Amino acid sequence: MKKKSVSVTLKNVTKRFKDVKGKADVIAVNGAEFVVEPGELVTLLGPSGCGKTTTLRMVAGFELPTEGQILIGDTDVTMLPPNKRDTATMFQSYGLFPHMSVYDNVAYGLKLRKVAPDEIRKRVNESLDLVGLATYGDRAPGKLSGGQQQRVALARSLIVTPSVLLLDEPLSNLDALLREQMRVEIKRIQRTLGITAIYVTHDRVEAMSLSDRVIVMKDGFIRQIGAPEQIYEEPDSRFVAGFVGKAAFFPVEIGGKDDGLWSCNLGGKEVKVAKAAPNVQTGDSAVLMARPESLRLQEHGNGHLDGKVRMNVYLGNSLESFVSTPFGEVLVQIDDPHSKRVFKEGELVSIDFNSERVRILNTDEA
Ligand code: ATP
Repeated sequence: MKKKSVSVTLKNVTKRFKDVKGKADVIAVNGAEFVVEPGELVTLLGPSGCGKTTTLRMVAGFELPTEGQILIGDTDVTMLPPNKRDTATMFQSYGLFPHMSVYDNVAYGLKLRKVAPDEIRKRVNESLDLVGLATYGDRAPGKLSGGQQQRVALARSLIVTPSVLLLDEPLSNLDALLREQMRVEIKRIQRTLGITAIYVTHDRVEAMSLSDRVIVMKDGFIRQIGAPEQIYEEPDSRFVAGFVGKAAFFPVEIGGKDDGLWSCNLGGKEVKVAKAAPNVQTGDSAVLMARPESLRLQEHGNGHLDGKVRMNVYLGNSLESFVSTPFGEVLVQIDDPHSKRVFKEGELVSIDFNSERVRILNTDEA
């Protein structure tokens, strides 16, 4: 089933929907520009309405861009219909034919293409094997679990050996445990086949755990593209920082930079910071972004920011301390709490920032 991997390129792609009642057009996707490398799995991540599905549908050919160009490999597919693009799309509703067996559901695409019966048999068996359903060919889809139905849908998408697999929130109908299992399965199969894949989700954990790279979108714009670690550790905006993980934000003034460390003024105290978004400068008012694991609690008066423990939540391998401060409530994560000092609820404390882990962001969110 393996095929040569291809890239997917979007060049300045915009999609404008005309509003029928004479209101302003909706710009669903605004100047999208990216390359998905051959064999890569890239996720489009963002809140509802940010343009993820429209972007995917333009790659599939179900929507045509208002402006811009889409290439699969070196071929310009911008105006080609879906069946001429060598892509397969898997949706959140499985779309299986209830009156056909699992085998016939998977074979359907090949029968349409008039592939020889022997070849169909071989490929159906291969793809059912790939998704772990080798012995389920005779079953009706209605007699399968949600996760198994999803696997049949995946086998059906893959049997036509598309160059590009497009997945639109494929796991959102499944419960949490099945979602986790299917995530691992999808990644395994995608890697085994070396198939280029674009995956749409609004679930950050799904995006982080599946992707080689994540494209974060908001209001039709791409806000950042990077590997999961990169967008988590080095977000360039407050929006991306908050969307991909828990974070607290503090208003700071940026002083000079010395020995690779920025000096920030946080309510009269100096905090040294190693990392900053590319667009920040000395003298700026900025935002200091801190993930819960980049903060530490110590004796009141000894750290960068004083506060009081409002609540502790014990999670086994970690403990979350919610600390009230003049800048609002701040979440501090204490890993392996049995080996650390834990301040009790109601105790006065001080928060210390890990200079290497916190990050300066520009206040400008436009
Ligand atoms: P969700 O996670 O809710 O599916 P999304 O990020 O996939 O959201 P899109 O479905 O791409 O977002 O929609 C982007 C914007 O375009 C939204 O404002 C949506 O209302 C609008 N839109 C999408 N399809 C159409 C259409 N056919 N006609 C008019 N507006 C549309």
